[in-house]
Amino acid sequence: MPLYEGPVFAMARTQFQAIADHLNIAADERDRLLYPKRAVAVACPIHRDDGRTEVFHGYRVQHHLTLGPTKGGTRYAPTLELGEVAALAIWMSWKCALAGLPYGGAKGGVAVDPRALSLRELEAVSRRYMQEMIPFVGPYTDVMAPDMGTNEQVMAWFMDTYSMYQGKTVTEIVTGKPVACGGTVGRREATGRGVAHLVGRALDRIGLPPAGARAIVQGFGNVGSVTAEALAERGMKLVGVSDHTACYADPRGLDVAALLRHVGRHGVLAGFSTELAADPDTLLTLPCEVLVPAAMERVIDADLAGRLRCRVLAEAANGPTMPEADAVLAGREEIFVLPDILCNVGGVVVSYFEWVQDLQQFFWDEAEVANRLNHVLDRAFAEVMARASQDGIAHRSAALAIGVERVRAAKQVRGLFP
Ligand code: NAD
Repeated sequence: MPLYEGPVFAMARTQFQAIADHLNIAADERDRLLYPKRAVAVACPIHRDDGRTEVFHGYRVQHHLTLGPTKGGTRYAPTLELGEVAALAIWMSWKCALAGLPYGGAKGGVAVDPRALSLRELEAVSRRYMQEMIPFVGPYTDVMAPDMGTNEQVMAWFMDTYSMYQGKTVTEIVTGKPVACGGTVGRREATGRGVAHLVGRALDRIGLPPAGARAIVQGFGNVGSVTAEALAERGMKLVGVSDHTACYADPRGLDVAALLRHVGRHGVLAGFSTELAADPDTLLTLPCEVLVPAAMERVIDADLAGRLRCRVLAEAANGPTMPEADAVLAGREEIFVLPDILCNVGGVVVSYFEWVQDLQQFFWDEAEVANRLNHVLDRAFAEVMARASQDGIAHRSAALAIGVERVRAAKQVRGLFP
């Protein structure tokens, strides 16, 4: 379908076709499973601070509505395009199904660099984007959440804008909101804490103790920074870290608390240190036990996959490993891959908890959120391990097979309307 183009969509399609082959899915059933139900493109005009009017392009892709509403993040990035959004929506579907959540996948966003906007301009883009989306979203239709370039504040503006049009407060329209306006405790940290929990399970599996294990984290936003903190809490040593402004490495271990304080104050890693500066191009190939790409997709190609020196590759970002790299990793059995749809599933699991709490207006404490999250993570991890060994396939293939199979089973019993 020419509507969906670009390298990220090609990646999602290649992965799907490989799994469809593995599951013996007939050719005429594949398009129904792969192609999104709906894609919306909107223009979001705002007044810039200098008086100009500027239009930003926004998208929302809803992959399938077979299991319930769609659910997915909102990305603000200057290069955002429809194919990328569609790929992220498709991955969300397999991820939600793997975790047993009653959702289809969605994703959306605006082609904008949020760092180039003032706070007022960011609010204007966010409110206009949500206002344009009102006919297409809803607590039982499509529920938004944060992703790259958006945060709790943006979710609060989304919720407020939607609520103003409804004439009442509708907290359940977005997740990842501040706790002060209907968010759940533990959502901001959920993705990173989930990554660290699963890294612990992976290390157990390969017989490595977490204490003293060396970790490298690429990306120090919501997911990367919380992952680094949670790994350090488990006794691991952060030996390398980067964001889009700086890269640091120290084999003796970086001071995670100091990095968090610096980013809390300045927003980025730049300016943290001159002595510890490292080359971002070689960060991912430094020796470590745990490598965590937590920034963006398509950072590990076939060449890099051959040069990785980690024991666990924990894909906190969506789609960091290209299919060509998977072929190389298949021959590197010493590397335990935690595939993205399993590794970062904690975010959408706690988003689901937030939605459930908002619908019931009954809120849980942090221990309940954490216990329920760990229970879902452990179940999904065990299912992926069992499927990988049963079918003799890679962890990614096993995770995707479970997700695709569950969506397929629901479509089969529901039938084709009309
Ligand atoms: P974020 O915007 O909070 O942080 C992104 C980080 O990546 C920033 O530190 C940025 O500086 C860094 N970065 C950007 N370009 C980089 C580069 N070239 N090299 C190194 N670092 C770079 O975004 P986030 O919410 O932390 O999301 C990160 C990834 O995790 C994305 O792939 C996202 O889809 C995925 N994810 C996020 C969530 C969530 O709950 N936020 C859930 C699941 C998956």
